[in-house]
Amino acid sequence: MRRVVCPGSFDPVTNGHLDIISRASRLYDEVIVAVLINITKKSLFTVDERIEMLREVSAQYGNVRVDRFHGLLVDFCETNGISAVVKGLRAVSDFDYEMQMAQMNYSMAKVETMFMTTNPLYSFLSSSLIREVAKYGGDVSGLVPEPVIGRLRARLAES
Ligand code: ADP
Repeated sequence: MRRVVCPGSFDPVTNGHLDIISRASRLYDEVIVAVLINITKKSLFTVDERIEMLREVSAQYGNVRVDRFHGLLVDFCETNGISAVVKGLRAVSDFDYEMQMAQMNYSMAKVETMFMTTNPLYSFLSSSLIREVAKYGGDVSGLVPEPVIGRLRARLAES
């Protein structure tokens, strides 16, 4: 069984994330989307909310599972029988850091990292930019899945 992980914050999930998740689901037997629990980083959505959104928008893919992790990704991989990490590369700016992490993960635990080039439609997209645009009332339709739009509106109306 070829099981891989797509790790990230997903605060919130964007169409860029979903594009990578769906493409990975066609290549591997099982894809685990793992939400990083980072208590030191302020987030717009709780981990539970992010997981709920991810489950809703990935339900159409039969071999995608959503989970959470904290600590080292390689430990999560070992516990779950995962041999590779799948990451999307947006631009050269992603590359330096991603390469360091990939090499560190391989040297620690022989966990491989597979990079997918981003869909050009979404190469400028990040969760932080979505939060920023939505905060000031910008239109994010077409950039995040439909259920996320409603959640963003509701969350930002609270603040
Ligand atoms: P961000 O806040 O930058 O969106 P995340 O930590 O939630 O980052 O993203 C997890 C991973 O998803 C990233 O490391 C990257 O591999 C991938 N990713 C994020 N946005 C995109 C995108 N627009 N296109 C392709 N891959 C992406």
